[in-house]
Order: sequence, then structure tokens, then C-alpha cells
Amino acid sequence: MRKITLSNGETVEVECLSCAITSGRIEADGGVIIETDYFHAHQDVAYPIKGLIILASKRHITCFDELNAEEKMDYINLISKIRKAQRNVLGIEYVYYFYNEDTTHHFHTWMVPRYEWMYEFGRSVESIRPVLLHARNNMNNEENKQKMMWAIKALAEELKGNTL
Ligand SMILES: [Zn+2]
Repeated sequence: MRKITLSNGETVEVECLSCAITSGRIEADGGVIIETDYFHAHQDVAYPIKGLIILASKRHITCFDELNAEEKMDYINLISKIRKAQRNVLGIEYVYYFYNEDTTHHFHTWMVPRYEWMYEFGRSVESIRPVLLHARNNMNNEENKQKMMWAIKALAEELKGNTL
């Protein structure tokens, strides 16, 4: 078991945070954005960036080649569906995607929208870490949190009716 401090300050003991969130044992702040039999999408609210989404598998796996046939189909469909919702609802022009297999949690993909202010931290992959740190350390004010919460709701609504 590992002790993890959640963004709301609460401390929980879990084997794997991704398992706890995707099974609903812990509710991600802002709630579920979209969920299927195989995947669960939510925002990591520690980073108050509108439309930043974590897409996690429900199964406790870590590597891409562990996805089964159904999960692979579901994954690509879901990612493109979420991407479309980001564009329709938030006007997001570009998204950065990344996931690391040596995670302490389990398989989850970050979908990080690109906003104009992020370019001061550089372009491409080297800017991701400073952008996220900046968001977490300097943007955690009430106004940004409210914008983020609104975006979570708006994306969830859009995705309810969206069949691609
Ligand atoms: Zn897990």
C-alpha cells in the first residue's frame, strides 16, 4: 500500500491510484468525463488547465502491448471522441499526448491542450514539464479552478450525446 495525498488534501492508502479512480473507489474531483467498459476519463485537478484529461484503463496494466483487441479499439475511439469534444466545446486547436510505461500507477494517457501562454516555456516535448509545474504552482486560483470545473462539465455533456 502507498500513501497518496489527493489534490483536495485528503490522504488515501491505495495499491494503485489508477485502480482506485477507475473503479470509482475514489472519485476524481470534478467526476467522470466519460467512461466505457475499458477506460475512464477524468481531469487531474492538481493542474488547473481547461480540458486536460487523463484517460486511464480500467485493467491494471502498464504497457501498450498489454491492451487486448477490445481495449485497443475502445482506446482509439475514445481518444478521438474526447479530442473532438475538446475542439467543439473549448476550441482547442492542438493537444499533446503522452504516457509513460514506468508509471507508479497504471496505464493512463495524458491529453494536454496547448494554449498560447505555454509557448513561453518552449515548443514540443521539452515544455511539458515546466508548463505543468507552472499550472500547478502558479495558476491554482479560484478563477482558474472554476473555469476548469466548468470545462469538465461541458466536456462530459458533449460526450454524452457525441457518437462521432
Ligand atoms: Zn491499477
